Amino acid sequence: MKITFLGSGGGRFATISQKRMTGGFRIDNFGGKNYHVDPGPGALVRSYQFGVNPTKIDGVFVSHSHTDHYGDAEILIEAMTRGMTKNNGIIMGSQSVFEKYKRWGPALSNYHKSNSKNLILVPNKIKKFPSFSIKGTGTIHGDPTGVGFQMEANDFKISYTADTRYFDELAKYHKGADILIGSVLRPGENSIKGHMCTEDFINLVADVKPKLAIMTHFGFKMISANPVKEAISVNKRTGVRTLAAFDGMLVDINEKNPQKSRMIRLKDRFAAHMKQEEVYSNHFSKPNGDKDKKNKNKHYNKNSDFNNSFGSK
Ligand SMILES: [Zn+2]
Ligand SMILES: [Zn+2]
Repeated sequence: MKITFLGSGGGRFATISQKRMTGGFRIDNFGGKNYHVDPGPGALVRSYQFGVNPTKIDGVFVSHSHTDHYGDAEILIEAMTRGMTKNNGIIMGSQSVFEKYKRWGPALSNYHKSNSKNLILVPNKIKKFPSFSIKGTGTIHGDPTGVGFQMEANDFKISYTADTRYFDELAKYHKGADILIGSVLRPGENSIKGHMCTEDFINLVADVKPKLAIMTHFGFKMISANPVKEAISVNKRTGVRTLAAFDGMLVDINEKNPQKSRMIRLKDRFAAHMKQEEVYSNHFSKPNGDKDKKNKNKHYNKNSDFNNSFGSK
């Protein structure tokens, strides 16, 4: 099983600025199926950027109706259903994702809901399918219907808090998790309404005692504080191995020993593309294979002449 982070940013400002990417994460080969969780803005593009195939998903989970969680949900549903030509997959999420609830949602059009199974998750309600089961977990957040989940396949449990503030019963929902993924927007004791800070996550991890904890959904202050440092402090205080997600992080899960899972930095294919562009521009700067510096300068001068003449027109 693999978990791939197509973004580790969250909250309005990290999203608008793309200080960190906001494509959510993928769980691949979990009970033989692939899921995209909270596909925020960029999820489709980030999938290609980090080499995961958006058409190879069996489920889309959207925790609540905030754009950093549902921005790309509809296009991923189209990827899952072959452009809405096939009945395929399952869409899971909060009530507000499917139906309008007060000021929130719906996050999906009727059209996009129509070719997949729809499952509204409610805290503590378990739904069983042949390849997996899923339980909704409670949140206290802006969207009152927001949910996290605990998914189980082959006796292995992955828990995701989604956006929530810390509250006493939070640990109860996530008890028994092998892997706990937390949305930790702020560093230290720097709590903000509706979200957890590192100190809250320490309390949660200490109580749930997962085998591996992963922090993601970082806001501006967390990014400046360095999430890796924060994860180290969770680790020290709880004894649970804790990772800070980064954009393009793949965690190759060791199901027998989750604490020994491998963390891999995925190749950024767009960055590779940029390098290719550099190769082309080098090529053009040396039309006759001439490597001498004078010629290079000539080329740059030519370019600037071109720019100047273009600018003067
Ligand atoms: Zn969020
Ligand atoms: Zn939110």
